[in-house]
Amino acid sequence: MGPWVDAHSHLADPRWDQGRDAAIQEAMSKGIGFFLQGGIGPEDWAAQIALQKRYPAQIGLCFGLHPYWVAAHDEDLCEIALDGLAIQLPQAMALGETGLDFRPHVMKDSRERQITLFEQQLELAEAAELPVVLHLVQAHDEALQIFDLWGVPKRQGIVHSFNASWPKAQDFLRRGLSLSVGGPVARPDNTKLHQAVKEMPLEFLLIETDSPDQPPARFKGERNPPGSLWDVAESIARLRKMTPVEILDITTANFHRLFGAHGTADSDHDRTRPAT
Ligand SMILES: [Zn+2]
Repeated sequence: MGPWVDAHSHLADPRWDQGRDAAIQEAMSKGIGFFLQGGIGPEDWAAQIALQKRYPAQIGLCFGLHPYWVAAHDEDLCEIALDGLAIQLPQAMALGETGLDFRPHVMKDSRERQITLFEQQLELAEAAELPVVLHLVQAHDEALQIFDLWGVPKRQGIVHSFNASWPKAQDFLRRGLSLSVGGPVARPDNTKLHQAVKEMPLEFLLIETDSPDQPPARFKGERNPPGSLWDVAESIARLRKMTPVEILDITTANFHRLFGAHGTADSDHDRTRPAT
């Protein structure tokens, strides 16, 4: 099986304007050949579309209003962007990133706005029959309340960069969500996440780099290259007493099951999927 899938990265990010092709090619030379993006806001969606023109078989489009973007824009601009999202969404494989980030330096005055935009995007994902890519930081309880009130969209989705305990993992798994694990699993002292990764059913596990963010220790202070998906696979393989290739195969199969075109009549999705 292959090419393997990085379930979450930002390869259209301007930080990759120097060296983007080399980074993608280096990942591809290691067998990593498909990259689902994490959407931030309108400018990023346009950048993703441009990148996908260059790499039609490698880049998966994912459009959403990230909590960072929501926190940085007022209500009127958020509503305009949401209308734009509804129009652009049919080209995407998933809606995201959406969610809540209640760290004080991110949130500032945006708590209510983040909640509103999150609920509106869950509704959009349901209507568009797309899975969601969730960004949840210091807001797990609030997110669970929203899921219990509104339900998880029927195509389900992933909690991106899941980095919490086994009991928290179960809160999401019970609601039908999968967990995408990235660089934080490589930290030797991250025992909470290690336990979650050891206990969880493998069919709900995906892996990601979040490139260019969250570099593993050997890239400290640098951009995280998409080829570092291997580091994530190696860390998880050690925890599960399996091989990195087994982890890459399983998580790639999980990705296709979750984000594949099944359940939608839109054949456009097929174009954006890697050959298997
Ligand atoms: Zn991200």
